[in-house]
Amino acid sequence: MHETGLAIEIHRIARAVADERGGGALESVTVAVGDLAAVEPPLLEFAWRAVVEGSADAGAALIVEWERARQDCASCGEIAERAPGSWLRLCPRCGEPLRVTGGDALDVLRVVFGDGASGRERGAA
Ligand SMILES: [Zn+2]
Repeated sequence: MHETGLAIEIHRIARAVADERGGGALESVTVAVGDLAAVEPPLLEFAWRAVVEGSADAGAALIVEWERARQDCASCGEIAERAPGSWLRLCPRCGEPLRVTGGDALDVLRVVFGDGASGRERGAA
């Protein structure tokens, strides 16, 4: 399952962001995951727990923000008829090929970490 590699990478990025600012343990990491990124959020959260377990960041929450892909027809606009998780090749109204936009996100959006020294101040990036 490639979610494990992904969780390791997310942790590496988040850790680098916190270290750069002299931060302590991670509190939460927010990631954007698109419809088309081929990632199962529950598997990613499971992998995340396994990655941070036993480290100083064991308490860090992984927050997944789901980004839906849109299908648009050049003539009719967004096609809302499609069922979740399914894709249409042609516009159900006029038969034109559809364009897919968005939904390919896979980004670390926000990293929240405690202050390395006091644990009171919080940093975010
Ligand atoms: Zn159309």
